Amino acid sequence: MKAAVVTDFTRPLEIQHRVIPRPAPQQVLVRMEASGLCHTDIHAAAGDWPVKPVPPFVPGHEGIGIVEDLGERVGHINVGDRVAIAWLGEACGYCDHCVTGWETLCLKQRNSGYSVDGSFSEYAVAHGDYVVKVPEGLDPLDAAPLTCAGVTTYKAVKVSGAGPGKRVLISGIGGLGHLALQYARIAGAETVAVDVTDDKLRLAHELGADHVIDARTQDVAEAVRGLGGADVAIGLAVSNASLRAAYGSLRRHGTLVLVALPAGGKLELPVFEHVLEGKSVIGSIVGTRQDLADVFQLHRLGRTRVIREQRRLKEVNEAIEDILAGRVTARLVFDFR
Ligand code: NAD
Ligand code: ZN
Ligand code: ZN
Repeated sequence: MKAAVVTDFTRPLEIQHRVIPRPAPQQVLVRMEASGLCHTDIHAAAGDWPVKPVPPFVPGHEGIGIVEDLGERVGHINVGDRVAIAWLGEACGYCDHCVTGWETLCLKQRNSGYSVDGSFSEYAVAHGDYVVKVPEGLDPLDAAPLTCAGVTTYKAVKVSGAGPGKRVLISGIGGLGHLALQYARIAGAETVAVDVTDDKLRLAHELGADHVIDARTQDVAEAVRGLGGADVAIGLAVSNASLRAAYGSLRRHGTLVLVALPAGGKLELPVFEHVLEGKSVIGSIVGTRQDLADVFQLHRLGRTRVIREQRRLKEVNEAIEDILAGRVTARLVFDFR
């Protein structure tokens, strides 16, 4: 089978021929149909974050495919099922985080495409308890971006307190942001979209943003405060300056939800204003298996649109270049079929 492999943080990915892995007792073997390219894969391949993956490794955590084989301890999944391989590759299942609905905070978790090989591969093994079934009727090319970009922003909107009567700023209308905008609208909020490319600003209009701000030509914090300020700001752009601007756009009692993870990301808070204005800053990391099931269901009901372009796995390095250069409308998905 072919797999895209990170061999070194300073080199392009290599397409390698590897032996198809065999599932361990609790694993499934998945024949990949589609895999989205998340900006996290780009951070992983560059070793951008304090906790680094160990090369050689296969990135990818928006994997959709068909189960071809099972270990003997997998009971609830059948050969032929379509499943999603998400960032949460596995967790312990018994710690306080796992048993209170916060499995995404488990200290023993393993992450697909980071601490275990991921979905940039024609076949992958994954823990049977942590793959999520994809409902009938969902296009695998849509299901792939929902598996990280979708679940992450669905969760971020959920924890943010967005709802009717709230103004929600979405900073960065990329892979994550174009879905965040839709979940904020589903929640009933007034939406403000911010980006720095013409295509993304056009897309924000098309997806129904109530206000669209071009961060190249406008002072974002000032423009949003001019609207009355944001009750919620969701930081999805890979830029420290955009996180500062998102914080600066909050009104009293507002909440900034940090999601993007720029290399060396830092946010300095003015303590006096932060306290007197009762603001919050929270971090949000992906979502649970149940959140992903909710995301798939919303899509099946026709409530969301996934904006994506198809590529082949062998084009992985050009695909990364295109994302970094802002040449992609929202999400790139590798089509393995
Ligand atoms: P992306 O590259 O598809 O989107 C980023 C968007 O930000 C682009 O549209 C870009 O034009 C825009 N942008 C750049 N500079 C900007 C600025 N100054 N102001 C406003 N917009 C700006 O990336 P993505 O796949 O959506 O991922 C975004 C980030 O989220 C990455 O850092 C990724 O690692 C992180 N992420 C976090 C989680 C989590 O669970 N917390 C999950 C997935 C991804
Ligand atoms: Zn746990
Ligand atoms: Zn991701």
